[in-house]
Amino acid sequence: MIIEIIPCLDDNYSYLIHDKKSDTVSIVDPAEFKACDSVVKKYKKLDFILNTHHHADHVGGNLELKKKYNSKVLGFGLDKNRIPGIDVLLKENQKHEIGNLKFEVIFVPGHTNTHISFFFYNEKVVFTGDTLFSLGCGRVFEGSHKEMYKSLNKIKSLPADTKIYCGHEYTKSNLNFCLTYDPNNIALKKKAKDIQIKLKKGIPTIPTTIDAEIKTNIFLRCNDPVIRQTLNLKTSTEDEVFSKLRDLKDSF
Ligand code: ZN
Ligand code: FE
Repeated sequence: MIIEIIPCLDDNYSYLIHDKKSDTVSIVDPAEFKACDSVVKKYKKLDFILNTHHHADHVGGNLELKKKYNSKVLGFGLDKNRIPGIDVLLKENQKHEIGNLKFEVIFVPGHTNTHISFFFYNEKVVFTGDTLFSLGCGRVFEGSHKEMYKSLNKIKSLPADTKIYCGHEYTKSNLNFCLTYDPNNIALKKKAKDIQIKLKKGIPTIPTTIDAEIKTNIFLRCNDPVIRQTLNLKTSTEDEVFSKLRDLKDSF
């Protein structure tokens, strides 16, 4: 499985997946036609378009790419009226393949109420869209905070060495937020250096891993006693801690 990161719009990432064995070319969340096509055209084909959710900055390239390459569009069945050009209606926990690559559909409502992630279990790669970011999580637009937290925990439970490819380069602002409320986290400070080097060179901070996020992403650390103390929420539930953090981040 070869993954090419395609920066799109201001801070989006689309991802091209090439399965060499079967020569299958797919793209996850094509934000815009031009930037995506400049990578796709090297392969002279695009078999599949995979969408995590219906937002314009994730489906913006769907129709033009589909028209040019006659691709099949895969998305969540419940999003069938919102994903342009959808052909294959996926279900929760469904296993599906693109060439020799098999993925499982993980239903992760919160950012939208029909958001999914694609988990390629043999390669241990997950495309999280706008649910989990490096050091952050998506804004909760359609679901509840409780649902979003449950969704994040589903992703958190994937194998520790799973690589995470998310929908945006939000890492710098997320890092500043994590450092504000978890300032003594040694793993976070170490990761901060790594991130600063990458950003200075102008290269993506993606992928990250489940293991790294559990150690550094404050939204996956709602049970951490030090963070709870900092927030003055020592006796609150994890849901309440998450909700507080999401509110704080919304106005950060
Ligand atoms: Zn979105
Ligand atoms: Fe987005």
